[in-house]
Amino acid sequence: MITIGSVDIGGTKIAVGAVREDGQILKRFECPTEPEKGFHHAMRRVIVMLRDLTADGTKLTGIGVGCPGPLNPFTGVIGEVGTLPGWQGGNLVTELESGLDLPVTVENDADAAALGEARWGTEPANGSFIYITISTGIGGGMLLGGQLYRGVDGAHPEIGHQVLDNSGPQCYCGARGCWESLASGPAMVAWMRGQDPSADVTTAAEICDGARRGDPLALRCVEWEGYYVGLGLANFHIHEALARDHRAHRHYTPRSSQQNLSH
Ligand SMILES: [Zn+2]
Repeated sequence: MITIGSVDIGGTKIAVGAVREDGQILKRFECPTEPEKGFHHAMRRVIVMLRDLTADGTKLTGIGVGCPGPLNPFTGVIGEVGTLPGWQGGNLVTELESGLDLPVTVENDADAAALGEARWGTEPANGSFIYITISTGIGGGMLLGGQLYRGVDGAHPEIGHQVLDNSGPQCYCGARGCWESLASGPAMVAWMRGQDPSADVTTAAEICDGARRGDPLALRCVEWEGYYVGLGLANFHIHEALARDHRAHRHYTPRSSQQNLSH
């Protein structure tokens, strides 16, 4: 049974694991991304973690990398990624292959997650579904009849940039009120600080902890987050219903819960 080195690059942390072809994770490490230190600095840390995976004799057949887009999955070159400023033009494939003497393949992180869901998750391998990931940003991978939809000319469907409120926060993509700028982890932190500039929070996890303790502002923040996550998801529900059956759309009644919510 083959084992590969898996790398998940996020805007906040990088996770590395030795994963068997049956999906079992044998070992894993992670470190902060610290994107401000640059692409090459991060790649050196990834190489060290991948080497540590094999310190006990584990043999890796190759390396698979998931990274936020825009990203060219055929060349490994990173585009202008909002959560990885300054990394544009970095080549994941050449950088890691030169440091590891193993073949490296790269995929948009949301596409990689969708393929993983089709292979080892609850969705059938030949199914049609959207996999949505919400963390530092919001991304989505789309499988149609088991085939990954890469978009026109490889332009990955950037569902995190659907505009939900054009008077909302400025997004790095140039638009205002994108889903990602309203419902990602950093969006929660920005909302808290907007409501209370003295709020001592830096992560969505801290806000959720505060909500569990009953902190009123943290509870409002989680409610605000839930509203926008739901609003973005509802748009896909409508599209799906329209595509499948117009009658389904007639029975779809969105619930308005924006009362008591404010930017
Ligand atoms: Zn945007």
